[in-house]
Amino acid sequence: MKITDLILEVAEFPFPEDFHPAWAPGGSEKGIGVTIIKILTDEGITGIAAASTFGSEIPTFNSLKPHFIGKDPFAVEQHIQILRNARPHGGLPWPIEIALWDIIGKASHLPIYKLWGSYRDKIKAYASSGELRPPERRIEDVYRYYEEGFRAVKLRIHYPEMKEDLNLVTAVRKAIGDKMEIMVDANQAGILVSPGYNPTWSYSRAVMTARELEKLNVSWLEEPLNRYDFKGLARLTKEVDLPIAGGEANVGIRELKMLLDMDCYDILQPDATLSEGLFQLRMLAGIAHVDGKRFIPHTWGNGLGLVANLHLAASIPNCTHLEYPYDPPSFTKEAYFGMLKKPLEVDGEGYIHVPQGPGLGVELDEEAIARYKK
Ligand SMILES: [Mg+2]
Repeated sequence: MKITDLILEVAEFPFPEDFHPAWAPGGSEKGIGVTIIKILTDEGITGIAAASTFGSEIPTFNSLKPHFIGKDPFAVEQHIQILRNARPHGGLPWPIEIALWDIIGKASHLPIYKLWGSYRDKIKAYASSGELRPPERRIEDVYRYYEEGFRAVKLRIHYPEMKEDLNLVTAVRKAIGDKMEIMVDANQAGILVSPGYNPTWSYSRAVMTARELEKLNVSWLEEPLNRYDFKGLARLTKEVDLPIAGGEANVGIRELKMLLDMDCYDILQPDATLSEGLFQLRMLAGIAHVDGKRFIPHTWGNGLGLVANLHLAASIPNCTHLEYPYDPPSFTKEAYFGMLKKPLEVDGEGYIHVPQGPGLGVELDEEAIARYKK
């Protein structure tokens, strides 16, 4: 089998109303922007993936094209060397590896996770909220998540004062009791330049917050410090009992391996669209497992990216949850999964099931992509 072409399409699937990410105070987003990648082959099999870096990767993908045409899509370990060397020149090239695995799965008539170990067929999803909302409103949201089947939720804490952050988590815990797990994300790994005030935590705020969240039976604290503060992260992870999570925007297998070697996190959270190639992360998850650490992919970008990370999560023993980005009425399933024929849903017990078709096991909604093409 040979690769014959690589096609790119940019689309934005609109939110019903502006989404205000907690990590960029005062900012707003209109929809889910993606670059759809299709890799065509001479046997009629097409591999798909979607990048979420807002078109910045297009020059990179175009410059990579000549390196893939005429090549064997199965030769992933050769192709990853090219992707790694392309990265310093532009956007993140990793979704190409996802599309190659989609081809391999389709040619083998197997879902990707079954090619890689098939540890589980379903995984507990957590509703990952994205806006900073006052406690009364967040409590209503959490009740609704519960009604929809979710048994875990991730809250953003992004108030200027620690006291307000803790008020929010305390209020939600009080309201929902032990019926749901609560995760907390501080988004401190990189402070985005934004129109509003974006609080930056000190080390002592991170320690104090972690100790208080532990009393509230929180499952983990995510990104409490800068992503390159390796020593600070290692010290925090050692000093508190609450699991510390992060790594979603660390890039490259060597940098991610360093996070493991330095014991920066209890839970490593790379993303197959942002951090490294999909199978490269599968290997890294094996090392994390040997080190006694969990590996729980980040999935914020788009629904097709979630599907790729879901196959990875289902193929390893040390993944306990999968992120399910969802914060209506702005951040909806319809927008997030807009490029797919239908959204992936959680079942009545909060689990998301791995698609059983070959490859990624999902189909693009070509009509929707054409409608929202940029
Ligand atoms: Mg996060």
